[in-house]
Amino acid sequence: MTEITLENISRRFIANNLQKSEIMAVRDVSLKVKTGGSLALLGPTGCGKTTLLRLIAGLDTPTTGEVLYDGLRLEEVPIQERGIGMVFQDYALIPHWEAEKTISFFLRLRHREREVPERVRRVSKITGVGIETLMDKLPRQLSGGEKQRVAIARAFARDLQVLLLDEPFASLDANFRASARIELKRLLQEFPVTTIMVTHDQQEAASLVERIALIREGTIEQTGPYRHLYTHPRNIFVAQFIGVPTMNRLEGVARDGKWYGKQFGGYPLPTDVANDTPVTLGIRPDAIQPHLIGISAKIDLIEMHFAERFTLLTVSKGDEHWQIQTELTPNYKVGDTIQCQLNHAHALFFNTHTGEYLSPFLHDEDMPLN
Ligand code: ATP
Repeated sequence: MTEITLENISRRFIANNLQKSEIMAVRDVSLKVKTGGSLALLGPTGCGKTTLLRLIAGLDTPTTGEVLYDGLRLEEVPIQERGIGMVFQDYALIPHWEAEKTISFFLRLRHREREVPERVRRVSKITGVGIETLMDKLPRQLSGGEKQRVAIARAFARDLQVLLLDEPFASLDANFRASARIELKRLLQEFPVTTIMVTHDQQEAASLVERIALIREGTIEQTGPYRHLYTHPRNIFVAQFIGVPTMNRLEGVARDGKWYGKQFGGYPLPTDVANDTPVTLGIRPDAIQPHLIGISAKIDLIEMHFAERFTLLTVSKGDEHWQIQTELTPNYKVGDTIQCQLNHAHALFFNTHTGEYLSPFLHDEDMPLN
């Protein structure tokens, strides 16, 4: 297995428009994935995830910076020794190859075809899926889910050191996605390899990998275990990206060590902030609850999440609105006034101008992985 290090990686593209403008798809990214570790590159559309993964795979070259495999520059590691298995969103199967040929290609090329049945059997057993039944089929004879299994089996049916996945489940429907995720998790438990995956699905990232690198506009905003990003976001972008439903933000100012918003306030700030500094309060919807007394607000919208067993209320007071995640009940009506109680022990505060988190920040390294 391999340790992967990125040292100040940048990738610039020239846009194919009249102005030939520059696009910095990746900007000065440094990170390390230790041997056998796993990391998700997470972030909004166009933030540079796929570009970064392609640079890690050696499919593209950084404009500046280095990709290191076990401390060696990637170009110094012969391709056959990199041990990279890749799974792409579109599966990238060769149209005129049967699944058997696709899965066994690596071992046959090395005259190790006798190992093929055993590898296929193990992958089938671990995933609980009969890959064997797909072996004589061409990609056009396979469903999306079956193609995805063949692509994953191909990645594991080799001497795997590094597994790179680019939105591997994006083309699958929700139910299938969940089972495919479990299959991959089983495979990774059985064959632990250094894994980097691209996803824009935070639940997928949280359930499959140890650490997340949250990317915005080509730069890493924060790296760490999911729960660390959730509880100690470095800034308001991280706080709003991580967590479903999205965190509420309410604008206010600091006064005498407390936060005051437009409609309510008086919550103590965790650090010294000069009076009248604009401060944003971040509060997750499950940290506000309807109560007998509290901040009165009008219900604007009701969303019942039956499967997840909660109701999401969007309420407003003056020109502000926020969301409340509460029990699943049909008792609410649009237009009703309710009293909201905010659990300010769960409040996060941010400098409104810089977006920076206003709490004693725990560094990544301070956090245990599990
Ligand atoms: P998505 O989630 O939508 O797949 P992403 O985070 O993977 O997006 P990238 O595909 O890495 O984003 O693209 C990052 C930026 O770089 C985008 O603005 C994209 O248009 C640009 N880009 C990527 N490849 C090229 C290229 N070959 N030439 C020009 N621009 C490119």
